[in-house]
Amino acid sequence: MTASHSEVWTRLSFFGGVFVAMALWEFLAPLRPSSTSKVKRWSTNLALVGINTLVLRLLFPSAAVGVAWLSAHRGWGLLNNVGLPFWLSFTASVLALDFVVYLQHVLFHAVPAFWRLHMVHHADLDFDVTTGTRFHPLEIVLSMLVKTAAVVLLGPPVAAVLGFEVLLNATSMFNHGNVRIPPAIDRILRLVVVTPDMHRVHHSVVPVETNSNFGFNLPWWDRLLGTYRAQPRAGQLGMTVGVRQFRDPERLTLARLLALPFVGEIGSYAFGNAAAKSVEFETRG
Ligand SMILES: [Zn+2]
Ligand SMILES: [Zn+2]
Repeated sequence: MTASHSEVWTRLSFFGGVFVAMALWEFLAPLRPSSTSKVKRWSTNLALVGINTLVLRLLFPSAAVGVAWLSAHRGWGLLNNVGLPFWLSFTASVLALDFVVYLQHVLFHAVPAFWRLHMVHHADLDFDVTTGTRFHPLEIVLSMLVKTAAVVLLGPPVAAVLGFEVLLNATSMFNHGNVRIPPAIDRILRLVVVTPDMHRVHHSVVPVETNSNFGFNLPWWDRLLGTYRAQPRAGQLGMTVGVRQFRDPERLTLARLLALPFVGEIGSYAFGNAAAKSVEFETRG
């Protein structure tokens, strides 16, 4: 089964709508000034969106939604074999898929080969709506494989998978926004959704801050599993965004980003490794 026109249309209009809304918000009320050429960053990040969209269409024409449809028809997966009411399987599926995406993100920080791919997302020298769409094509392919496996095992309703994917796309652009949200409102918002101030901590050059706030939609997994960090030590305006070993914009062009996982220095990346701990210690002093 290939993705239907209405599904493609739903995704595209959501992507376009949220993107334009966030870009406008960033233009009207930016939080941080740009540290590098915005034209260059935006053209690189949006070119990656184009490449990733093409790669996904070619490799996974039916995507996770198609696999959910197939699973429903073949009776694959847990939820296709238990008679739960629709609202309950819908809610359970969205929660489960969000947890899988959280775990996968932790894995991308913990396994050296995966971190090499994920460095492309973190090496952005600024943090804005386009950062939320900037991923190495191989990371996108791996994510799709993980999501497909989760869908086959779980057997979620097709609507839940479509809803989740559209939601993830929208929240990823929202929580990478370079936007000012009053702290009082941010505190309430981050009880139910990952806010830009919460996810920005994850883009800090300080390893212990990079290795926190892995959630994309729901902020609860970080709080439950001890990876939550409220604010960067240097503050939202004083913190440095990016990866310590990639500070030169010349090294972050489209071609060099595509090659980065294979040639770039891995740095003190990993969740809990000794090098990351010593960097944390230095920055404390
Ligand atoms: Zn990350
Ligand atoms: Zn991010």
